[in-house]
Amino acid sequence: MAKRLSSKVSLIVALGLGLLALAWGLVWLQGIFLEEREEALAEVAARRRALEQFALIELEQRLKAKLDETRPTIDAAREDPLLPAGQFLLYDRSELVLPRQSHPKPDAGAPVTALYQRLRQDPGSQWDGHVGDDEPWNVRVQLLTELREALEAGDRAGIENAFRDLLAHRAAFVMATQRDLPTTMVALEMLQRGARPRRELMAGLLRHGLTGQTSRLDGAQRQLLERLDRFTTRDLRFLANRIIALCEAQSVLYSDFSARIDEALERRGDPPNVPALPNPSPSEPMLLDHGRWYVTPARNDRLYGIEVRVGSILEEITAAMRQRALLGPDDEVKGRSSARAAEVSAVHLEIDSPTWAEATDAAESRYRLKALVEGIIALLVFGVMALGILVYRRRHRFLELKGEFVSAVSHELRTPLASIRLMAETLERRTKDVPRARDYPSRIIRDVDGLSFLVENILSFNRLERGRWVPKQETISLAELVEKLGRDKDSWARRPAELEIGVVDTTVYADPDLLQLVLTNLARNGCQYNEREPAEVAITTEPCSPGIFILIGDNGTGIPEGQAERIFDDFYRAGTAQKTRGSGLGLSICRKIMEAHDGHVRVRDTGPEGTTFELYFPALTG
Ligand code: ADP
Repeated sequence: MAKRLSSKVSLIVALGLGLLALAWGLVWLQGIFLEEREEALAEVAARRRALEQFALIELEQRLKAKLDETRPTIDAAREDPLLPAGQFLLYDRSELVLPRQSHPKPDAGAPVTALYQRLRQDPGSQWDGHVGDDEPWNVRVQLLTELREALEAGDRAGIENAFRDLLAHRAAFVMATQRDLPTTMVALEMLQRGARPRRELMAGLLRHGLTGQTSRLDGAQRQLLERLDRFTTRDLRFLANRIIALCEAQSVLYSDFSARIDEALERRGDPPNVPALPNPSPSEPMLLDHGRWYVTPARNDRLYGIEVRVGSILEEITAAMRQRALLGPDDEVKGRSSARAAEVSAVHLEIDSPTWAEATDAAESRYRLKALVEGIIALLVFGVMALGILVYRRRHRFLELKGEFVSAVSHELRTPLASIRLMAETLERRTKDVPRARDYPSRIIRDVDGLSFLVENILSFNRLERGRWVPKQETISLAELVEKLGRDKDSWARRPAELEIGVVDTTVYADPDLLQLVLTNLARNGCQYNEREPAEVAITTEPCSPGIFILIGDNGTGIPEGQAERIFDDFYRAGTAQKTRGSGLGLSICRKIMEAHDGHVRVRDTGPEGTTFELYFPALTG
C-alpha cells in the first residue's frame, strides 16, 4: 500500500517536475523569440539611423558646396550694388549688408524732390537751415549757379571750368547723398541740355564712376543704390527716373540699375524677405526661415547666406543614394524639421521607406508565428499529458476492476474446492476396501490440492499486486515455520519427496503467512521441476550481518541458462516447465513478498544437479 502510495506520489512529483520543466522551457524559448525580435528591430533602426546620418552629412556637404560656389558672387554683389543680391545674405558683424536695406530710415524724410526742383529753378536764393546753409553747401550751390550762367552765356571755357570745379568740390567734400545726388543730377541735366558733353564723361558720372589721381567719384546709379534707405519712396522713384532719362539720352546702360530699383521698391511693399538671425553670431552653419535660407559663418565675423530649396537638395540626395544602392526605388529622404531656425547638424532627416515597415512587419510576424507555434506545442504537450493522465486513470480503474474480479472469482472457487476435497477424503475413507475404486479419491485430493494452491497463488498475487496485503511483521521462529512446512508436505509435494531441514534455531522478523507462502512455493518448485526419485529439498540457513540467508536447494532439473532472473517475472515459465502445469506466478509472488520485507530472493546456484534459491532477511527481531 505504502509502495503504491509512494509510486503515486513519485508519479505526481515527476509529472509536476515535467510540467515545471516544460513551462520553464517555454518561457526560455519565449525569451529567445523576444530577443530575436528585438535584435531584428534594432538592426532595422540602426540601419535607418546610419542612412539618415549619411543623408545629413550629404546635405551639409551639398549646402556648403553651393555656398562656397556662390561666395565670390556674393562678394561681388557686396562691392557692386548693380549686381543682383536678392537671393543672398551677407551679415557683417551682425549688420545686414545684403540684400541692401531698402526701407527708408526714419530720417529719410528730407524733401529731395523739392530740393532738386529748387536747385533747377533758383539755386542762388537764400537756403534755410533745414537743407543746410553750411559753407560747403553754399559753395556747391554757387558752383552750380556759375555752371548755369556759363551755359546760358554759351561760354564753353566757363562751362568747362565750372563743371570741373563742381566735380572737384564733390570729390573734396563728401556730402550726404540726399544733397549730393540732386546737385549732381541738376548739373548733369543742365550739361546735357546746354552743351554736348562727352559720352564717356556722362557714362562715368552716371554709371561707372570717375577715378581721379587721389579720389574717386561713384556713378549716380551706384550712388543711389548704395543709399536706398536714405530716400522716401517718392524721392527714390523721382531720382531713379531722372537717372534713367539721362542714361537713355546718353545711351548709357541702365537695365540692371532699373531692375535693382524695381526690386528695392518691391521689397518696400512686402514684409521684409530677410530671415532674422536667432543669435547675433552663430558659430555653426544654419538653416533659417524653415529651411529657405542657408547661412554659414566665415572669417572676419561675416555670415554668408544663400536662398536654398532643401526639398530639391533632398531629392538629389535621394537619387544619389538610390544610385549607390543605399536606398530602394521607393525610399525617400525627407526633412522633418519644423523649427524656424536650426543648425544644419541638428536637422532631423528621415528615410521614408516601405522597406523598413516591411522589415519591421516581417520581424513582428516572425515573432508572432513562433509564439503561435510555441503555444500550439504547449497546448499539444499539455493535451497529451492530460490524455495520458486520463488513460492512466482508466487503465488504473480497469486493473482495479480486473483485480477485484480475479479476487472475487478466486474466493468463490475456494469454498467448492474445500468441499470437494472434504468429500474426496470421505470417499477415500469409505472406498478403502473397494478395489474397483482404485486410487481415484486420492488423485482427486491431489488435483484439488494443486488447484487450491493455484487459486491461493492467484489470490496472493492479486492482493500483493494491488497493495492490499500489508505485511504484519512479527518475530517468528524459523524452526517452527520449517517444521510446519514438513507437516504440510503432502499438500505441496505431488511425488515422493524428502525434506531435509538444516536450519539454526533463530528468529526472523517477518509476516508468518507470507513467509510460509514463500517457503511452500520454493519447496513445491523443488519437487515439481525434478525428475529424480525421490525429489530432495533441503532448507538450510547461513548467518550474515545484518540478517540471515535461508537457502532452499533441490536436486531438480536446474534452470536453463540466462533465465535465472526472468523466472521472477509475472507469468513467466521457463522451457523446463513444459511438462508441468503452473501459472508462472509463484516466484513473482516470492520476490514481491521479499521486497516487502526489505530482503531479496534470487537464484544462488543452478545446474543439472539442482538449484539453490537464496532468501535474505535483514532483520531477525522487531
Ligand atoms: P510455476 O511453477 O507456476 O511455473 P514459478 O513462478 O513458481 O511458476 O516458476 C517459474 C518457472 O521457473 C517455472 O515454470 C520453472 O520453469 C522455473 N523454476 C522454478 N523453480 C525451479 C526449480 N526449483 N528448478 C527448476 N526450475 C524452476
